Amino acid sequence: MADDYVHRTAITRLEVSDEQRDLLEETIAEWKRGCQLATDLAWGKCNTKSDVQPLAYDDVREQTDLGSQHAILATHQAAQAITGCLERRSSGKPVSKPTFTAPTVTYDTRTMTLFDDDTVSLSTTDSRVRCPLALPDADDGYQRQYLDADEWSVTESTLTARGGDYFLHIGFRRPKTDTERNTAEDGTVLGVDLGIENLAVTSTAYFFSGRQLTHDIREFEKVRAGLQQTGTRSAHRTLEQASGRELRYARDVLHRASNAIVDEALRYECDVIVFEDLTHIRERTSASWGHKWAFRTLYEQVEYKAESEGISVKQVGSAYTSKRCAECGFTADGNRPTRTDFRCQKCDSEANADYNAAKNIGMRYVRRGQQSSRRTGNSQLALKSGTVTPNGGFTTYPDGFDAEFMDKPRPQRANPSG
Ligand SMILES: [Zn+2]
Repeated sequence: MADDYVHRTAITRLEVSDEQRDLLEETIAEWKRGCQLATDLAWGKCNTKSDVQPLAYDDVREQTDLGSQHAILATHQAAQAITGCLERRSSGKPVSKPTFTAPTVTYDTRTMTLFDDDTVSLSTTDSRVRCPLALPDADDGYQRQYLDADEWSVTESTLTARGGDYFLHIGFRRPKTDTERNTAEDGTVLGVDLGIENLAVTSTAYFFSGRQLTHDIREFEKVRAGLQQTGTRSAHRTLEQASGRELRYARDVLHRASNAIVDEALRYECDVIVFEDLTHIRERTSASWGHKWAFRTLYEQVEYKAESEGISVKQVGSAYTSKRCAECGFTADGNRPTRTDFRCQKCDSEANADYNAAKNIGMRYVRRGQQSSRRTGNSQLALKSGTVTPNGGFTTYPDGFDAEFMDKPRPQRANPSG
């Protein structure tokens, strides 16, 4: 799923005049309308860019003030959002027609130009605006490594309004080196936490309930316990039949879970799926032998299915993944007031405990790559609303990905210029 490029995003605030602000505001409003129009026309009919564009382009042009290239991009955005819905539906999740409410506009190289003097020119519903990037004073802002390097070229970018300011998420890409192409170590990482209450939770906030599996395993354990006591031959045969059936039920649940995990990795274009070290999972979750078997089986199923999609599957150490805050890194027993809740004592972040753990598991793998001397550290963690790298670079997903505030890095990181 990964293409032959490494993708990165540099986020910067823009310095805009009042007049420019009005134009950008208007452009965002028209963009949302354009995306919605295209979605309304294509919903239930088609979902590829090449189908949605000819279907919706004329209407978007006639009914909005978007320029021709932005009208095209709006039809593509609609196609992408609908595709996301179809993928979710195919993995059994409920979907409804996407609505476009986020205050963003997508730009490409035809609607946006970056200049060497750290200004950018952006298409609007009227004339282009040209405004300075509000970059950090020091030359060591992380944005510099992309802005100043010839190897990185500008690709699709997003303008976002937030709190009266405008932020440009500038997309960059460079071709992968041979090493990067041949190893799946670089790329986007999906973290997965396994447990009893929730069988699997991903760093993208996909929850697979553990209720059905727990039921099946208990039934099996009951049948087994009851029949072993009688100890006759016919009881033994019944045990084999009963266990066959109960284990088949459990296996069925595991297949659905492993399919869902691999689907999630595909949907977010992940290259690696990361679990915690399975040898310690029993202590951590107080799992019965049945659950331990289930985790092992699930892992093997994911490994097998992911491999055929070119996605690798790894394990990382599980120490502190449940007590560490995925937002700020603070680690303490007190961060877990209950089994299901996570609340950071330092930064007050609140999250579902398993979801917090899934992010830590994925980030542990990402960081491991960064610490290795022979590697350049190009991994990033897939979250529900975007991807993060350890140095704070954050990429938002396009509309249709249901942005969730909790995922986003602290404001000072998303906005290094303050
Ligand atoms: Zn915290």
